[in-house]
Amino acid sequence: MGKIINVFGELVFTKKIMKEKLSQSTYEKLMNTIQNNDPLDESIAEDIARAMKDWALEKGATHFMHWFQPQRGGTAEKHDAFIEYDEYGEVIEKFSAKQLIQSEPDASSFPSGGIRSTFEARGYTAWDPSAPVFLLEGGEGKTLVVPSVFLSWTGEVLDQKTPMLRSIKVLNESALKLQRLLGNRLAKRIVVNTGPEQEYFLIPKALYEKRPDIQTCGRTIFGALPAKGQQLEDHYFGAIQPKVMEFMCALDTELYRHGIMAKTKHNEVAPNQFELAPLYEEVNLSVDHNLQTMAILKKVARKFDFVVLLHEKPFANLNGSGKHLNWSLGDNTGTNYLEPSKSPLKNINFLMTIAAILLGVKKYNGLLRAVVSDAGNDLRLGGNEAPPAIMSIYFGSYLNNLLDHIEGLKTITSEEMNYINLDLQNLPKVSKDSSDRNRTSPLAFTGNKFEFRAVGSTHNCAEAVTILNLITAYGYKTILDKLQNMAGEDIKENAIKLLRSILKETKIVRFEGNNYTKEWLKEAGKRGLFLADNTPKALRYYLKPEVINLFLDFGILSKRELESKVHIHLEAYINTKEIEFKIAIDMVKTMVFPAIMKQIGLLGKAASAFGDKKNVLFKEDLGEMEKLYVDIKFFTTKLSVFLESMNNEKDILKRADAFADDGINISTKLRAFVDTAETLIAAEYWPLPRYRELLRELN
Ligand code: ADP
Ligand code: MG
Repeated sequence: MGKIINVFGELVFTKKIMKEKLSQSTYEKLMNTIQNNDPLDESIAEDIARAMKDWALEKGATHFMHWFQPQRGGTAEKHDAFIEYDEYGEVIEKFSAKQLIQSEPDASSFPSGGIRSTFEARGYTAWDPSAPVFLLEGGEGKTLVVPSVFLSWTGEVLDQKTPMLRSIKVLNESALKLQRLLGNRLAKRIVVNTGPEQEYFLIPKALYEKRPDIQTCGRTIFGALPAKGQQLEDHYFGAIQPKVMEFMCALDTELYRHGIMAKTKHNEVAPNQFELAPLYEEVNLSVDHNLQTMAILKKVARKFDFVVLLHEKPFANLNGSGKHLNWSLGDNTGTNYLEPSKSPLKNINFLMTIAAILLGVKKYNGLLRAVVSDAGNDLRLGGNEAPPAIMSIYFGSYLNNLLDHIEGLKTITSEEMNYINLDLQNLPKVSKDSSDRNRTSPLAFTGNKFEFRAVGSTHNCAEAVTILNLITAYGYKTILDKLQNMAGEDIKENAIKLLRSILKETKIVRFEGNNYTKEWLKEAGKRGLFLADNTPKALRYYLKPEVINLFLDFGILSKRELESKVHIHLEAYINTKEIEFKIAIDMVKTMVFPAIMKQIGLLGKAASAFGDKKNVLFKEDLGEMEKLYVDIKFFTTKLSVFLESMNNEKDILKRADAFADDGINISTKLRAFVDTAETLIAAEYWPLPRYRELLRELN
């Protein structure tokens, strides 16, 4: 690979290159836009477009594109060549300010959840100057990629990035106001940092070619558990196989060329499951980088005859994949508000931030659940290895004790006191706790950040970030309002007083125990936490009046935009399930039934060869096979009838509910019979590569 710094960022229009290629004044104005969220001075756009074009052409690019993040997930792009007619009708290379700033992809086929009817279907993309442009390589060609937001002509949100940018803005406003009140004059801008740990599986491409379910749905619809699954846990942090190592090196190189700080890589728990974690960075960039990482993973894997599975649950009964979203906030001075420190002022800040998050998670508990819900994650959440579907916060014993101490519930022992200085103005000195780990918690405090583990491996982190930012902004605002109305003079004393009442009020969202137990489900119900065991139930949370008002009050989404978002997610859910059910029926008819018939033929032949006396031996096996055929036929027909009946259900929520209840019930039963058949049918007759093969060591 050579030295990382030799290739790092070579495909990115970095600040260094901007400085070289832009006039001093353009550069400074652009930096103001990037760093201080100032609106873009449009008079400099021509200069920027020219510099970008020069750089891109030098690097061999022929096209440019606006790259955006539609609500249906993933990314979207439309490429245009850098060509125009000149005054003589000859070809020239051109990229204007207008082309940089705005594009009209039309894009009428994107789901808009009812926002656009066909006659007003057009949407447009607009350059997001806070994210750097970069080059995308494909074969011989290179394309200049302009990260963009996607809006309708009426200005309504059609993407995932716009709400996130808005959430950063409102968090910035409320957090800075609180900073001023607490006496912090240095903070000018709030900075949100994220580091998403990406999990994925690798399988050999040759086997992928033989699995219509993986090709179509990204996961196995059928497949019996192999003798050796993950019970030995020997894969976790195990030595990385040489061929996988080669792949990872090539992957890292590609990531470095894109300016992505790939830092940590290791084997995960399930066979052929891996994790990749970047160094954290500012959230807008981090989200773009994660989306690129997912695309680069797929691209590099192909070179090694692997296929990457990003699905949340590619294999039943084995660990699924998530995206642990590490999230923190601080300001432009480099202070992390989630980092306990020796400075009392910073600690007040730390405690107020914890309080804000507690308030947000309590009041809008279901938002954290709703934002991670989709068909893929439904298969993962609540499983015995994954974050539960109930949203609570884990603090670890040290911070927990400290909070209890502040609340007056317990006195910290002298041993624990070592870390804490309570002398000064009654303000605790806190030292950070990074040792505690509770892998079962969906939202865990891990020393100087929260780790939101419920995000799915295919998800765009922007959505979860939006919610974390929004509920924290809500918490800060609540605190601010209360502090401003408190009688006492000493703001810090008031803050601690307020903190005590917030701690009392938000107790129900704190949970330190094992989130996987049945007792917790019961307890969470008693506490009144939001419970939803599937996507349609979870998505309903967005439609509660108080949630609509939250989005409205903070200017994140209008009621119509929120309803359209729910509509798009419900549609995606239904479509995903429908495709899964259809491919299941298809595979049964064209692959499973023929295999059963061959097996019946085999048993029949053997029976006649052995003559009448031994026939009884085969009768049982034959009977079993025939019964499987009948059962599979029964549930396949039932699934077809179910799909047929759904054509008449026009209410999208009811349709989604039916898919989540009846649909999944039938398909689960069907799968159980097919998986039994797999274990009984001759290897040479079974047409699908089994788990054992799909997950064997990648040498
Ligand atoms: P673990 O698996 O032990 O949770 P990893 O090292 O795999 O830890 O991943 C931790 C992730 O959290 C990395 O992406 C890291 O950059 C990120 N991270 C560390 N500190 C912060 C922070 N203050 N804010 C946001 N993300 C952070
Ligand atoms: Mg982690």
